[in-house]
Amino acid sequence: MEMNDERRGLLIILSSPSGAGKSTLARRLMEWDPSLSFSVSATTRAPRPGEVDGEHYHFLSIPAFKELVARGEMLEHAHVFGNFYGSPAAPVRKAIDGGRDVLFDVDWQGAQQIRNSELGRHTLSIFLLPPSIPELRLRLERRGQDSAEVIRKRMEKSWDEISHWDGYDYVLVNDDIDRTFDRLRVIVTAERMRRQQQPGLQDHVRRLQSEFEEGAK
Ligand code: ADP
Ligand code: 5GP
Repeated sequence: MEMNDERRGLLIILSSPSGAGKSTLARRLMEWDPSLSFSVSATTRAPRPGEVDGEHYHFLSIPAFKELVARGEMLEHAHVFGNFYGSPAAPVRKAIDGGRDVLFDVDWQGAQQIRNSELGRHTLSIFLLPPSIPELRLRLERRGQDSAEVIRKRMEKSWDEISHWDGYDYVLVNDDIDRTFDRLRVIVTAERMRRQQQPGLQDHVRRLQSEFEEGAK
């Protein structure tokens, strides 16, 4: 690997009210860069049709979830829509140290805890807003995965999530999916170049300095 490519991984957090497009954009980002790893959360909610244990979520009982929290194995955890959700810390540390970015689909409570964690300086947080509330409802309905009752609950909660929009580094209004994705890609590309993400810079500049001094003789 070229020295200039050496970098630390970013913790990329995507949050939004349910239905605004997080999963769609997360999927696109991973297709764009297969080296990205997705943080598979643990949850106590029941799997939806088609959801695979260990791939979409680690589906746990409440006691098993609480045990992981008590052992300090969660980077963050929260109670959302009546269920527990949390991000296991070990896979995240491993990826970041190996220079790979990790993508998180977590709510505002999770984003806040990750930002305040020991890995906080390596986070990039992005909030997605829907173009309108009727459009948000339409997207939930069109997705066709939730009952009318669950959709009603998610819509009720959406304001609670939206009201935390101003705690994020970037905010994107997800109107056109291709345009939003382009913007997201630009943000990730730029953030990877942040000084603190490039630990090899110090050595590189030292080398430049000695070459410079050699040349000056
Ligand atoms: P979330 O993960 O935030 O709950 P999803 O990614 O599942 O949301 O998106 C909800 C629904 O809206 C899906 O059916 C998805 O295909 C659709 N969708 C996502 N982004 C857009 C967009 N920009 N325009 C129209 N439909 C979208
Ligand atoms: P869903 O049940 O639709 O998969 O997720 C519901 C909400 O929980 C979404 O807002 C999602 O971002 C959030 N969520 C999923 N996993 C986690 C997690 O590990 N931690 C936190 N704090 N929120 C999560």
